[in-house]
Amino acid sequence: MLNTDKQIKLEECIREILNLLGENPARNGLLHTPKRVAKSLDFITSGYYEDPKNVLNDALFESTNNEMVLIKNIEFYSLCEHHLLPIIGRAHVAYIPNGKVVGLSKIPRMVDIFARRLQIQEQLTEQIAQAIEECINPQGVGVVLEARHMCMEMRGVGKINSITTTSALRGIFLKKHETRKEFFDLINASKVNSF
Ligand SMILES: [Zn+2]
Repeated sequence: MLNTDKQIKLEECIREILNLLGENPARNGLLHTPKRVAKSLDFITSGYYEDPKNVLNDALFESTNNEMVLIKNIEFYSLCEHHLLPIIGRAHVAYIPNGKVVGLSKIPRMVDIFARRLQIQEQLTEQIAQAIEECINPQGVGVVLEARHMCMEMRGVGKINSITTTSALRGIFLKKHETRKEFFDLINASKVNSF
């Protein structure tokens, strides 16, 4: 979290970056920029201070439901750990219960906690699947992430609008073809195609 010491140090670093970029941090438009950047960096990396497992464990309920629970189109924003540039995406998260279900709003919250850290998409996908597996102990879990990477679009290869898809399948989603197909069919139904 942002205490005064961390705030001041971050502001100094950002002022130094502005200098190195050839800017004048003392000019009017940039005067409060270090403070704003420090605050926004703190917010978009606030996932380091929360434990996603606590969020899930706080809202577990007994259930006899053994049908697929799917939450689609969970928007997330992250930062790539290689360039510190945004990753903008959507997560689709499903599981088949095994005696326990989790409060629905907890899944997007957990996605946010993992996303608000420096990430690569593959690892983010795995972490979401892993947390569900460990906390809910379901028959299976499926996670698909679709994302745009600003480090691919704004620099480097300059591939605007390319979308990276990653998936993590565990348990019955991996073993049973029908379950996997149901999951992907449900994701693809009424799909939002732009973000
Ligand atoms: Zn990157």
